[in-house]
Amino acid sequence: MTKHSDFTKARKSPFWSETVPPKIDCQQLSADLSCDLAIIGGGFTGLWSALKARERFPDASIVILEAGNIGNAASGRNGGFCAPSISHGVSNALARWPAEADTLIKLGRRNLDELEEDLACYGIDGEFEREGKLNVAATPWQIEGLKSTKASYARCGIQADYLEGDALKMRLNSPKYSAGLFEPDYAQLNPAKVVDGLASAALKRGVEIYQYSTVTGLAPAKNHVVLATASAVVNAKQVIMATNAATPLLRRLRSRIIPIFDYTLVTEPLTDAQLSAIGWQGRHGIADSGNQFHYSRKTADNRILWGGYDAIYHFGNKRDEALQNRPESYRRLEENFRETFPALPDVGFSHAWGGIIDTSARLTFFVGMAMQGRLAYALGFTGQGVSATRFAALAMLDMLQNVKTERTELRMIRSHPVPFPPEPLRTLAVKWAQNDLAHEDKTGRRSLMLKTLDRLGIGFGS
Ligand SMILES: Cc1cc2nc3c(=O)[nH]c(=O)nc-3n(C[C@H](O)[C@H](O)[C@H](O)COP(=O)(O)OP(=O)(O)OC[C@H]3O[C@@H](n4cnc5c(N)ncnc54)[C@H](O)[C@@H]3O)c2cc1C
Repeated sequence: MTKHSDFTKARKSPFWSETVPPKIDCQQLSADLSCDLAIIGGGFTGLWSALKARERFPDASIVILEAGNIGNAASGRNGGFCAPSISHGVSNALARWPAEADTLIKLGRRNLDELEEDLACYGIDGEFEREGKLNVAATPWQIEGLKSTKASYARCGIQADYLEGDALKMRLNSPKYSAGLFEPDYAQLNPAKVVDGLASAALKRGVEIYQYSTVTGLAPAKNHVVLATASAVVNAKQVIMATNAATPLLRRLRSRIIPIFDYTLVTEPLTDAQLSAIGWQGRHGIADSGNQFHYSRKTADNRILWGGYDAIYHFGNKRDEALQNRPESYRRLEENFRETFPALPDVGFSHAWGGIIDTSARLTFFVGMAMQGRLAYALGFTGQGVSATRFAALAMLDMLQNVKTERTELRMIRSHPVPFPPEPLRTLAVKWAQNDLAHEDKTGRRSLMLKTLDRLGIGFGS
């Protein structure tokens, strides 16, 4: 049995926030104003929207209204895995949009290329590393899963190397895993550095940012939208809603996402000898193949970030800040960490935190319009928004400009996920799906209920 660490000593805030200089210094909105574009939410989606809008409209007045401080939510709390995908992976694209999967795959890879170029062009040191990702398997059915993923990747022209034995041990030496699939084209970044860099680039280009300025209501007016905050009003010709897992300001979107809490630990820095003991020599990220999966990666100073597994939903869509700290999940994370890395029995954890994921029933974001084409929104990124938010920002701007592009014509973009049922059915459905997913992880058998949901294109995950 694992002897647990004393998590009261771990800092309960994202490790990333300590790697950037003091937070962006922007005040609360204190006087009414008018602008061409108001963006609600200062995470990746809002920041990319602001920068891409500036590129398209050099003279437009652009304002970001952020409820807390820039990057306080998912964008400053995530694992920093930056996928070459806009569709929550290749398998999700093939399962839900087989006819346009090739296009989704192509656009996802192009988005990652362009994201890398944008970071360089804005001069952002986001610790961007395109060092690949290793997916590992612990059971015979997971090994079969990796082999079939390799086959479908090959059909789509994506390189992935199946590894066993010494070839696997050179990337990860853990008694828990007997096979791996290495995807060379996968990136990681430091989310807080990227948030900070995007916000600084936006400010430098004349975007106004107001922090601690929660938008409490939206109302259509003759030629604009009125955004209410506690201290002042904004009259905006157009609006982008980039509020992710928060309760959507548009009532009709409330059943399309559910808030799922995800938790992360970060270790103390590891020595070269410790890294060599676990065979983790490169800078690639690692994820396991379970439905309840862990993601792990190295930080710049060689700590291990170890997150995932638990995906916690609270009755009635509770989003209380206090729920971002969950000792029970930290203990489970530690147990699984020790099992994966028995060669690191004494490594301590310096940080532990949680965050909220906006889960949609198809696992990808969706985009839409409201208020007679004056407002665009993008929500539902589930656990893969670090790269997809950039693409979603471009799609929203296309829609606000009323132009047809390869993005706006995608079925993925033109459709919405099915709604989650109301409570108490919602909690029951989530619990049922989670039980069946955990059972599949133990036995390799997918339940009838999950197979039925697969056929209907409905999923649950993080
Ligand atoms: C623990 C965790 C790990 C993750 N790991 C990964 C990963 O490794 N890779 C990956 O691709 N994705 C990951 N994700 C998901 C990814 O972080 C998100 O998809 C992405 O950051 C979403 O960006 P966003 O800007 O849409 O949302 P957010 O960053 O949540 O920003 C939304 C902002 O809107 C603000 N807001 C909300 N309501 C209002 C309002 N009414 N008025 C004003 N402001 C408002 C909020 O304060 C918030 O700052 C993870 C998420 C979590 C929580």
